[in-house]
Amino acid sequence: VSMTSSLTRSRGPFATLFSRLRSSDAGIEAGEWTRLEETLILSDMGPGLAAELVTDLKGKLGKSPTALALRQELTELLESKFLQESRELQFSVTTKPSVILVVGVNGTGKTTTIGKVASLLTSSGRSVMIAAGDTFRAAATEQVGVWASLTGVEVVSGQSGADPASVIFDAIEHARAVGSDVVLCDTAGRLQTKTNLMEELKKIRRVAAKSSGEVTEVLLVIDATTGQNGLRQAEVFHGAAEVTGIVLTKLDGSAKGGVALAIESQFGIPIKLVGLGEGLLDLAPFDPQAFVGALIG
Ligand code: GDP
Repeated sequence: VSMTSSLTRSRGPFATLFSRLRSSDAGIEAGEWTRLEETLILSDMGPGLAAELVTDLKGKLGKSPTALALRQELTELLESKFLQESRELQFSVTTKPSVILVVGVNGTGKTTTIGKVASLLTSSGRSVMIAAGDTFRAAATEQVGVWASLTGVEVVSGQSGADPASVIFDAIEHARAVGSDVVLCDTAGRLQTKTNLMEELKKIRRVAAKSSGEVTEVLLVIDATTGQNGLRQAEVFHGAAEVTGIVLTKLDGSAKGGVALAIESQFGIPIKLVGLGEGLLDLAPFDPQAFVGALIG
């Protein structure tokens, strides 16, 4: 799937704003700036970034630009706020296996994302193994098993309640022994025991670093429909696990998604992939231009 075809289905708050503004060729009225700021906040960019964008636009365009000029400048400005670095998944050139830790709150789409990434990697010729590191939820191990069998990938799991770090360590050593290229590691995401979870993630990272694999990515899965909550999740998980990339899921069901911009500009972590549905193939590289185009409508 591509981002453009999946995203233009949702008609966002900007479409409403601009369809009203378009009717006049004259400069916009003063009150429209407030409405623009509200629209930016509605699309989940956060109040700080929204205010900054409006100030920038006024500085560039004066107080009363045409709707067309405003739309063009807003598009360019939003595109320019995204990071310029590579959004490709990283793999080790010297070590096998590369280890990808997948972290995030339960319900965000972590397990589904692991299935999708496994499918993506195997179809590009990489051999993959999955480590069922959420030993707390029996259902998580089962679900990972379903995705794995769909993609023909082996799963290493432990007993219920086993130490997640040791399951992940064992999976990496096993992958090394059989020559797998990549180990995708599921992790727990129960927020009610937040401190323990963060300690657990730190331990997983430490233990994985001592294995014969190399941790090349820590992907944080964030649900686009949860809006500004995603920012807080990025902060907490980044503090514990040094996140290297974000997977923004459920973008197919959200007319918002502005949190993507807020996360990149606040934490400097690139959005690498987006989830666009529940199927194995509903995953796409993040494309800032397509994203801004769909957002502004
Ligand atoms: P986990 O608890 O984080 O492992 O979350 P799951 O992978 O079990 O996903 C939770 C729900 O979200 C499931 O019903 C998934 O089918 C759904 N889901 C996951 N990713 C996406 C996505 O990109 N788009 C949509 N529409 N649904 C998704």
